[in-house]
Amino acid sequence: MSLEFETIAAISTPPGEGAIGIVRLSGDEALEIADRVYRSGTKKLINQKSHTLHYGHIENPKTGKTVDEVMVSVMRAPKTFTREDVVEINCHGGITSVNQVLQVVLQFGARLAEPGEFTKRAFLNGRIDLSQAEAVMDLIRAKTDRAMHVALQQLDGNLSTLIRNLRSDILDTLAQVEVNIDYPEYDDVETLTSQLLVEKAKLVKAQIQQLLQTASQGKILREGLATAIIGRPNVGKSSLLNFLLQEEKAIVTEVAGTTRDIIEEYVNVRGVPLKLVDTAGIRETEDIVERIGVEKSRQALANSDLVLLVFNQNEKLTEEDRLLIKATDQNHRIVILNKMDLPNKLDLTKLEELVDPDSIVKTSILTKSGIDKLEEKIAYLFFAGQTGEKDATYVSNVRHIALLNDAESALDDVITGIESGMPVDLVQIDMTRSWELLGEITGDSVQDELLTQLFSQFCLGK
Ligand code: GDP
Repeated sequence: MSLEFETIAAISTPPGEGAIGIVRLSGDEALEIADRVYRSGTKKLINQKSHTLHYGHIENPKTGKTVDEVMVSVMRAPKTFTREDVVEINCHGGITSVNQVLQVVLQFGARLAEPGEFTKRAFLNGRIDLSQAEAVMDLIRAKTDRAMHVALQQLDGNLSTLIRNLRSDILDTLAQVEVNIDYPEYDDVETLTSQLLVEKAKLVKAQIQQLLQTASQGKILREGLATAIIGRPNVGKSSLLNFLLQEEKAIVTEVAGTTRDIIEEYVNVRGVPLKLVDTAGIRETEDIVERIGVEKSRQALANSDLVLLVFNQNEKLTEEDRLLIKATDQNHRIVILNKMDLPNKLDLTKLEELVDPDSIVKTSILTKSGIDKLEEKIAYLFFAGQTGEKDATYVSNVRHIALLNDAESALDDVITGIESGMPVDLVQIDMTRSWELLGEITGDSVQDELLTQLFSQFCLGK
């Protein structure tokens, strides 16, 4: 038996409390190993039909001690995620019981899976291509329904199909070029071939550009829209933040390994994940204007995809307000006139001279009014009203974006090469390069180290 196909096992559910935890096994011996620890009268999993579910207990055969009461699913190759025999043991959630089940399975024949090894096997066994494997990773990390939708589509192979079509277009062209060169039927074959190359290069380039245009939205869906809430003290920033965090199901991720653990807070606003930037700092520091003066704050603003600039419309515009407007002029910005429940003292006409009137939203966080308008604006800003295009293929993966950019510049080389009268066989090299670069997205042309590096980014149990 080759090492590659040893039976592997891992906990496939996230760590922590949950009603159910799953230990997954995959490999030639998955059923035998499970049978060594599974008890349900005389029932043996190996005799069961594929894709069936069985009640029983997990027992340590050496000590005879029952570990947990479980439901076990039996899924035989090839109709499984890894295309190998797969057994999933559904046990009680919580850290100890899942861990104990894993321990006995490991003790009786399975090897602990490396991070991403299940997905790697799915890829190696030809079930999914590389961009789909990456989609699995995105799916695990998806922060909103919309991000999940994009990842699911990628998993379905939308992007792969698109890329494969582009590649086959390029390949057809290259074949045609070969034919023209080898069997010149006409005197002007060189001109014809050049024309063909330029036309195709332009066509493919246009489609790549279209894909790249979706990249900014895709990236936001994946990583969250870096959002800063700023304004003078007491205008209602914390109230807004708390409202968003409570109402919109905050997702808090801890990023360990930095000098102090940073807490990233995400809120989901109509499918747009907002990553609230440096919110702790904003809550702690009263003198926001002073902070704006500090280079670090400027940097934070520069890195923000969106600024929510809050004013209290119960007070006149101050010099500080004007400074804040100036400091955020280059940002995507939504201007919030808060405390609408109180009498108006802020001169709206004056404000409209300083900021885009369309960017203004009126709210009262106290009475919870106007916040839906704010959310609408946020969603509109980033989908530009494209809700109908939910099914568009988004490119969101950094590696894919880089490869598409490289392929585009290879095609540029084809175009400028022909236009400056370079010989066809030299231009052909650039065309071939674009074909190879696109192939790296789907993994059709990909190196071993890249694979190892990619799959190691997965979490354990995937
Ligand atoms: P921050 O300093 O900008 O974070 O402001 P806070 O969120 O701490 O709010 C300052 C005060 O304004 C608090 O007492 C809030 O309850 C109050 N506040 C916030 N939003 C509103 C609003 O829409 N209307 C009224 N009347 N008060 C508000």
